[in-house]
Amino acid sequence: MDSDQTQEAICAELGDKKIKVACIGVAGEKQVPLACVMNDEQRAAGRGGAGAVMGSKNLKAIAVRGSMKTPVADEARLREISKELRERLAHHPVVSLFKPYGTACLMEHGWVSGDVPNKNWGKGVWREGCEVLNGRVMAETILVPHAACQGCFIHCARWVKIDEGRFAMEGPGPEYETCAAFGTMLMNDNLEAVCWANDLANRYGIDTISTGSAIAFAMEAYEKGIIGREEAAAISPGATPTPSWR
Ligand code: SF4
Repeated sequence: MDSDQTQEAICAELGDKKIKVACIGVAGEKQVPLACVMNDEQRAAGRGGAGAVMGSKNLKAIAVRGSMKTPVADEARLREISKELRERLAHHPVVSLFKPYGTACLMEHGWVSGDVPNKNWGKGVWREGCEVLNGRVMAETILVPHAACQGCFIHCARWVKIDEGRFAMEGPGPEYETCAAFGTMLMNDNLEAVCWANDLANRYGIDTISTGSAIAFAMEAYEKGIIGREEAAAISPGATPTPSWR
């Protein structure tokens, strides 16, 4: 089962929607070094291969059901600090953009300072790509309303729906880093393709940033003749490598 199916199946089997599941997808089962531990609708403990560690122990999932209150030494002070932080962050120039546009809003701002990785870090600025791969475009085209992570007021999590075509899907939308990894790092300016790849990687339980970076590395290696058509085809079965990226 993929990571979404695993979480759904465990909650259905135990008959309690409040159960929380941390699990691995097929990538973790196969001990891929980029495998994540997945939870809560495609949120990931990504990077570092923690999913492969679970896979090596033949551990597919852990399910828990909280039933106790978290003890706090000074509740009044905690509430006070939380209120203060909420007020400050609500007016923060960057954080205040996360609710309407998600972290992918950083693509639109990041290109100005050269802070978005392009073409396997080989190209400084790709304005045209960043202008179509960002949270504002997502909000204007494929974003649908959905609940945020439990208890969080920042509300950066996205939910997208692509009704038809090659990249039809519905599920969590990509973060800033994933827009870069599956988008600008590959010189791919198709936002729907980025969403689809994000969903596929999360279902497999493989880190989206590292996966996009590995593909970008392979593309550059192919372009520079370090790997040939045979190796490129092995990396991407069924795809026909083109001699140049664009
Ligand atoms: S909605 Fe809140 S908890 Fe969820 S990823 Fe964004 S900032 Fe983190």
